[in-house]
Amino acid sequence: MKQIITSEKTKIKLWLDDIDAGAFAQAKNLANLPFVFKHVAVMPDAHQGYGMPIGGVMASEEVVIPNAVGVDIGCGMCAVRTSLATLSTEQLKGVLTEIRRTIPLGFKHHKRGQDRSLMPKSAIPLDELTVIAREYQSALTQLGTLGGGNHFIEIQKGNDGHVWLMVHSGSRNLGFKVANYYNRLAMELNRQWGSKIPPNWQLAFLPISSAAGQIYLHEMRFCVEFAYANRKMMMERVKEAVLSVVQPVFFEPMINIAHNYAAMEVHFGKNVMVHRKGATRAQVGEIGIVPGSQGTPSYIVRGKGNKESFESCAHGAGRKMGRKQAQRQLDLEREKKRLDDQGIIHAIRSVSDLEEAAGAYKDIDAVIENQLDLVEVLVELRPLAVIKG
Ligand code: 5GP
Ligand code: MN
Ligand code: MN
Repeated sequence: MKQIITSEKTKIKLWLDDIDAGAFAQAKNLANLPFVFKHVAVMPDAHQGYGMPIGGVMASEEVVIPNAVGVDIGCGMCAVRTSLATLSTEQLKGVLTEIRRTIPLGFKHHKRGQDRSLMPKSAIPLDELTVIAREYQSALTQLGTLGGGNHFIEIQKGNDGHVWLMVHSGSRNLGFKVANYYNRLAMELNRQWGSKIPPNWQLAFLPISSAAGQIYLHEMRFCVEFAYANRKMMMERVKEAVLSVVQPVFFEPMINIAHNYAAMEVHFGKNVMVHRKGATRAQVGEIGIVPGSQGTPSYIVRGKGNKESFESCAHGAGRKMGRKQAQRQLDLEREKKRLDDQGIIHAIRSVSDLEEAAGAYKDIDAVIENQLDLVEVLVELRPLAVIKG
């Protein structure tokens, strides 16, 4: 940990030296909420988000905050180690072609819905879930689709001598709808209740014990499960794509983790709702995935169970620039060259692609360096080929 800052009521614990002013202001707002448990933990990849920084961890005994989960509920990473030592450029291109054929990318979805048996099961009857009941048919066509921009499928070479497969995706439009519906509902209820929390903090809450809070938790958990199923389905397609160019290949069980969610966990001897918004759980011995960016290494890590971070770590490198800023400030030829020089099959073609260039993200090695008290590195993965949403 780098620094502890004490605000009026609680503390902020930071795992980075240089936090942007917007994210810091948001961390202070969080720390000044009346129901924060212990302290706000800010991971080394932190940057400004809606209401709460991405790369933030906040626990509460009383409330759940939709904006402290994030709009892409359940977004996360999936990784698989293969028995392959290498893939030729020709083979990589073949795999990418097959992936493009079987996985809808960007905002595309399947023409026909998937079988309902592939969907998560809700703990309560479907018709009691306000948003999901309405969106269910549409969600069937979103299952097994990548989504836009920041989401990706990558083929990597590990320093363990193996080729790895990685998928980054979330709960697609379903999670987005749930997140927005409940954030708006929380705003409206907070207004009716005469909440003292300034609306411009964008941290409207729902008491865990309230009817609205309970329904939100059911819908949120469903979306987390939906996102797991989404990544799993795509990873199966990616494995099939590999098998279509080379055989035999053996695959180890997938690592599939969420980095946008809230869950009840025990911390400091209390049952609390831990919000991880762009943060990965890192309990003792737990395996995590910390991606870098398009053209930089990613890491498979093992948690150290650090209590001060609520047993969490970074979820990636984190953005250094906003999307528009990256398009304005980064040099297209330079960003392209940086990938071409490494022989990476990449997705940077035009200025608009710069929003996802390596230069738009923080230095992943500095992020790893800053969280050595949270995780140890198991495998370093270097990109061979990447498909962006
Ligand atoms: P999110 O968009 O979920 O907040 O962030 C996911 C993380 O994935 C980013 O912070 C960044 O570090 C990482 N990332 C973004 N694009 C790529 C990519 O193309 N390849 C890899 N390996 N990581 C990426
Ligand atoms: Mn996402
Ligand atoms: Mn994500």
